[in-house]
Amino acid sequence: MERERIRHEMAFRRVRVSARTQLTPAMVRITVTGADLAGFAAEGPSDHVKVYFPDPETGVVTAPSLTADGVSRPTDAVIISRDFTPRAFRAGDEGGQPELDLDFVLHGTGGGVTGAAGPASAWAAGAKPGDELVIGGPRGSKLAPRDAARAILIADETALPAFSRWLELLPASTRVTAILDVEDDDAEGYVTEEQRQRASIEWLYRIDGPGQLEEAVRSLSIPEDAYIWAAGEAAALVPVRRYLRHELGIDRERLAVEGYWKRGVTNLDHHAPIDPTDPD
Ligand SMILES: Cc1cc2nc3c(=O)[nH]c(=O)nc-3n(C[C@H](O)[C@H](O)[C@H](O)COP(=O)(O)OP(=O)(O)OC[C@H]3O[C@@H](n4cnc5c(N)ncnc54)[C@H](O)[C@@H]3O)c2cc1C
Repeated sequence: MERERIRHEMAFRRVRVSARTQLTPAMVRITVTGADLAGFAAEGPSDHVKVYFPDPETGVVTAPSLTADGVSRPTDAVIISRDFTPRAFRAGDEGGQPELDLDFVLHGTGGGVTGAAGPASAWAAGAKPGDELVIGGPRGSKLAPRDAARAILIADETALPAFSRWLELLPASTRVTAILDVEDDDAEGYVTEEQRQRASIEWLYRIDGPGQLEEAVRSLSIPEDAYIWAAGEAAALVPVRRYLRHELGIDRERLAVEGYWKRGVTNLDHHAPIDPTDPD
């Protein structure tokens, strides 16, 4: 169940917001555009870009740049970046501008998911057409497996954009089961009717109390030919990963568990193991 990897030439693209669409009370779609988006590619369902935001003090977006020797990072300015999923890219082939959609969870901003705020969610809450960002990457794409009879997708709000991409990029022959672990039923508005036809979805609401995610995963029947992808809050995924990887013994070729953020941690390094006691 191999997932092919594709490398992309690194690029930092300066773009401007062209539209802002409220998708649910807690999620907003920011569409960016600009000539720099020419050649943008992200063919994998869980690909990510680094989004560089303006310094709230100065309004200036500082980002690395490419030089003959590689990537140069300015040391005399504040660099604020976070990871996001390139939800949809339109190349603008018929004379239109290329456009990229990024879907942001609004956490700690009053209207959406509770908890602390951060520069990315605060920016998205107030973003308006004309605002500037820089998009770095993606450095590479990891394609969806072509030969999985079944896929099990587990996601919280931050991973709903990637979940949507999984639904688009898996072969039609792959049957999809999903567990979506969200704050409350407002989040259901993110998922379209077409997506509901494509996947059998179990919704969990965090407002109903803790422990539901692990219980729901333990109740799944997981056949040998299933590929499993889980992404969301890192600590919540530790027991899920332990169960899948160690109790069931599912090997890494069939399983990816990715921490997209961690409660109380700013700008989580998602390359670090989600379970420090088990870096495998
Ligand atoms: C590969 C990858 C793809 C991702 N794709 C998306 C995406 O498409 N859309 C998206 O919204 N996010 C996505 N994320 C998650 C996003 O990068 C983090 O949520 C990030 O921390 C947001 O930055 P911030 O500046 O808002 O908060 P930070 O400054 O990083 O954190 C500030 C505080 O907010 C808390 N926090 C961070 N995120 C949340 C949250 N979702 N809910 C509640 N509290 C939170 C932190 O624990 C911390 O206490 C992705 C992450 C990865 C690794």
